[in-house]
Amino acid sequence: MKATNDLRKAEISSGVAKSALTPYFPTSHYALRKIWNTKKDLVAPWWRENSKEAYSDGTKRLSLGVANHIDSLTGKRKGKPVGFPKYHKRGQHESVRFTTGNIGVTVDRHHILLPVIGQIRTYESTRKLTRRIEASSARILAATLCRTCGKWFVSFTVEVDRAIPAPRKGKRIIGIDVGINTLHIGASPSGKEILRTENPRNTDKQAKLLRRSNKNLSRKQSHNKQTGTKASNRYIKEQERLRRIHAKPANCRLDLNHKTTTNIAKNFDRIVVEDLNVAGIIQSGLLGKQMSDAGLGEFYRQLKYKTIWYGSTLVIADRFYPSSKTCSKCGLVKAKLPRFERIYKCTACPNVLDRDLNAAVNLAKLGLPSQPSNIVVNSGSSPESGRRGLRKTKVPKNSMNSKDINVVADEASILKQPAMVA
Ligand SMILES: [Zn+2]
Repeated sequence: MKATNDLRKAEISSGVAKSALTPYFPTSHYALRKIWNTKKDLVAPWWRENSKEAYSDGTKRLSLGVANHIDSLTGKRKGKPVGFPKYHKRGQHESVRFTTGNIGVTVDRHHILLPVIGQIRTYESTRKLTRRIEASSARILAATLCRTCGKWFVSFTVEVDRAIPAPRKGKRIIGIDVGINTLHIGASPSGKEILRTENPRNTDKQAKLLRRSNKNLSRKQSHNKQTGTKASNRYIKEQERLRRIHAKPANCRLDLNHKTTTNIAKNFDRIVVEDLNVAGIIQSGLLGKQMSDAGLGEFYRQLKYKTIWYGSTLVIADRFYPSSKTCSKCGLVKAKLPRFERIYKCTACPNVLDRDLNAAVNLAKLGLPSQPSNIVVNSGSSPESGRRGLRKTKVPKNSMNSKDINVVADEASILKQPAMVA
């Protein structure tokens, strides 16, 4: 594909007539699959050994990648520039998505069925999904098999009939300020501290192990293109170990986020958060590492869908609302508040309190019914959208560590039912 397009570019620059140009290589999934089907006997005579989905998925991802690249070039896609798809390396991010064929779970709740591969035993019980399927309140649309840190995971895309409760009209309001030292601090409009999660600093805890593993890795024979040496078995083993060390803080983060967001969405009626540009802060490099370690972006994402599930309302404060600089007692707005000042001292009244708590109280006040102006209400759960009763929720694929699933509140795993393959 790339060769064809480069050839076309060269032809244009050398002044070949428009009609004589090499045509563009087709990029649609359908066209790519068609080309594959005509060529597969020639380039991959062994193709029958695998599920046809493996190739179909590959062409689909290629066409998606190209579409993203083109959209990024033409400015249709926001964010970071997207390059032309690269070749996939074997052994990295291995995954395949099955959309047709014999996909399912068995009645014994410890096996899953996949096309061509057949029956596989799972480490985790599949009972929640199986129960839903037996009660015909769920339908499996696809299964994605993937390998991360030496373990195989399967995640199902499931269509679920889920009763969406009408938004509660209660008066339990919480304002949540997110930070780095204290991950989340919640307060009521009256100034009472309700919630506090300290940052467990998961990555820091693993730092020693990481350093040792990286050191060990550097002493082993790695793959070298120039000399043609292959990676040694010990190198590959150590690499797997390193990946497991990396996976640990990620799993802890996910677990903590799930527990906190479920707790908040269940126990409060109006939840006010700041509209933080998390990706922007991480990119700016200022607090990037701590920020990504804290997993704040994921916190917001979970809060958004869980408030819909449990009938609470999420209120997002304006990005420029000065929640930290405002005094929560008298409403004075300070012009400047350096980052290191951890205690808020008001200059107009005797109010002295923790900086983050002060911000949380201000946010909680935004949730009061008398404060309609500069706020955006999560549309899915807002009273005016009026979505009630049964609603089909499609949940995209999601891979989680099976261990987390067991601890995470059960609601979270009803829709996402990944199970580890033993
Ligand atoms: Zn004050």
